[in-house]
Amino acid sequence: MRMSECGMLRVKAAVCVIVVAACAGRLAAAQQFGPGNPFYATSTLPFQAPPFDKIKDTDYQPAIEAGIAAQRQEIEAIANNPAPPDFANTIMPYEKSGLLLRRVRASFNAVTGADTNPALQAVDKAEAPKLTAAEDAIVLNPKLFARVKAIYNHRETAHLDAQQRRLVELMYGNFVHAGASLGEAEKTRLKEINGQLAVLTNEFKDRLLAATKGGAFATTDKAALAGLSNGQIAAAAQAAKRSGREGYVIPLHNTTQQPVLQMLSDRDTRKAIFDNSWNRAERGGATDTRDTIAQIAKLRAERAKLLGYPNFAAWKLEDQMAKTPETALTFMDSLVGPATSKAMGEAKDIQSLIDAQKGGFKLAAYDWELYSDQVRKARYNLDEAEVRPYFELNTVLKDGVFYAATLLYGITFKERTDIPVYNPDVRVFEVTDADGKPLALFYCDFFKRDSKRGGAWTSSFVSASKLMGTKPVVYNVANFQKPAPGEVALISPDDVRTMFHEFGHALHAMFASVDYPGLSGDIPRDFVEVPSQFNEHWKDDPQVFAHYARHYTTGAPMPTDLVAKMRKAETFNQGYMLTELLTAAELDMQWHLLPADASVQSPDAFEAAALEKKKLALGAVPPRYRSSYFEHIWGNGYSAGYYAYLWSEMLEDDAYAWFSQHGGLTRANGDRFRAMVLSKGSSEDFEPMYETWRGGKPTIDGMLKQRGLVETK
Ligand SMILES: [Zn+2]
Repeated sequence: MRMSECGMLRVKAAVCVIVVAACAGRLAAAQQFGPGNPFYATSTLPFQAPPFDKIKDTDYQPAIEAGIAAQRQEIEAIANNPAPPDFANTIMPYEKSGLLLRRVRASFNAVTGADTNPALQAVDKAEAPKLTAAEDAIVLNPKLFARVKAIYNHRETAHLDAQQRRLVELMYGNFVHAGASLGEAEKTRLKEINGQLAVLTNEFKDRLLAATKGGAFATTDKAALAGLSNGQIAAAAQAAKRSGREGYVIPLHNTTQQPVLQMLSDRDTRKAIFDNSWNRAERGGATDTRDTIAQIAKLRAERAKLLGYPNFAAWKLEDQMAKTPETALTFMDSLVGPATSKAMGEAKDIQSLIDAQKGGFKLAAYDWELYSDQVRKARYNLDEAEVRPYFELNTVLKDGVFYAATLLYGITFKERTDIPVYNPDVRVFEVTDADGKPLALFYCDFFKRDSKRGGAWTSSFVSASKLMGTKPVVYNVANFQKPAPGEVALISPDDVRTMFHEFGHALHAMFASVDYPGLSGDIPRDFVEVPSQFNEHWKDDPQVFAHYARHYTTGAPMPTDLVAKMRKAETFNQGYMLTELLTAAELDMQWHLLPADASVQSPDAFEAAALEKKKLALGAVPPRYRSSYFEHIWGNGYSAGYYAYLWSEMLEDDAYAWFSQHGGLTRANGDRFRAMVLSKGSSEDFEPMYETWRGGKPTIDGMLKQRGLVETK
């Protein structure tokens, strides 16, 4: 999610990361692991919530190692079973295996993402290659694969129900996709590559975290910060104090553009901050990621070749909704024209304003935010500061996000202060279903801190599964500016969007109604953003909006003319925003179309050539992420998958069009969507599942209309 402290409805699609915990098994003797370790047994807390009051940093490593060992034994027992393979003696125990590892990894992923420290980073570094090796040992276990294959081959006659058959098909596909049908020599090389990639991925993340921290802008000259509000200047002074420096510090956000660029009137300061951002991971030494990403790209291409694919993207997209890179490229290429022509029109408007002010310079990327905001104000007379007082975080959460979910799905929320959390900023709610039964636990962790990586994301501590008797325990993480002690959090419209977005992911996880753990996750990247982006639409629904957008001191609703101005401004700057997303997505795909024999000597030159080729080398509209700090594709599993945000956007705008045609926000519509889409997990193929609910194929029309890229008829 683009973090815009002062931005106004900046991003159509809130962009976040879904963290999918993988499971594993093998290696290492369990040391210092026993009943004293909080991961030793299933949590006795409600919903099996992690006992963060008991978990210490030193508990993770022994639990991970014991978990790997335990799962290895479980897998060996399945693989060596002398009985002929069937669902009950192979698939079922496989689904039940790795419980300890799942338990510890779920908590470990949460804290390393949202509240890390050098000790946890060291554990991550040490365990990542072991976990990868353990995963490989499972999917490349020939005896286990032989059993899965035999069951797969007889799936039509084995009296399996629909979910069981789907599970067998997915599992077989995953094994083959991971290399289970390779010969021994290739498997050995594959394991080596996977191990190297795990190390390099961690190296990338560590370097980037340090690079982003190191890229903070520091000054002792208050005048350089002209344009910032008193609150922002105070926050910058606080940030300086925290890092033991004189003056003011403005930390970097993970995107190319930085929120403060919208307010800073000093062009030199803007340029300095932008350059810090753009070059954050290209300064040589321990924070430079360029060698690392070139190595990752090369190894991914080699792995794809080993598995029989021309490039990494072809391998990666095989089990996605789009199926091939060509489909994704055709889709993206069709957006380049409408997006860039709109962006160039916006650039022209901005240049006119700069000229009218006798600026005497040509629009650069670091001017865009400031002047586009002025154009917006001139054209729509809308000031961010007018709007924020109507978006108080707690009210947005309870009377907006939760309220919309209650209207659509009948679920209700109650805060629980008795559930332990990993950081005092985290809050927990119990979610009750429409029938009065407990549905899930929901955690939210909204404020930015140095120990948290950038962006916003959703993941689970516990997944829904009837087989395991578990209900979902889900969490949202974001990076909103934390208010000073005693102050309330007044968030931006962008932050509001992020909250609805991430909660859409949470709903998808909470509603999963499947028998097996293997069917509750594993959502293709190009579908996983549909429920979240779809949920964003409800923030603007008149009934929902009126309920949460109230002045934080008076409780008065947002004045209707302000609402109208805000709505009108929504399609503003959409050319820029779509182009920066598209540019990042095309960049991602170009990296992953590299054949195995290609070697990128200069990531900078490669990046420039890729953008040129796609007609996206627009100086004033840089990619949302540059290659060297594109964490989604090098660190978080969105490799050859960043297009998925746009693809999902096409689907969710199409889905919203269905709601609009059928009476909008009603329980009937919500229940139907829940039953036919949100509750399905990955228990059905996504294309027919969606089209059955929709009653036809999705089109790009809704997306272009929502973005204001076509004339509304
Ligand atoms: Zn998302």
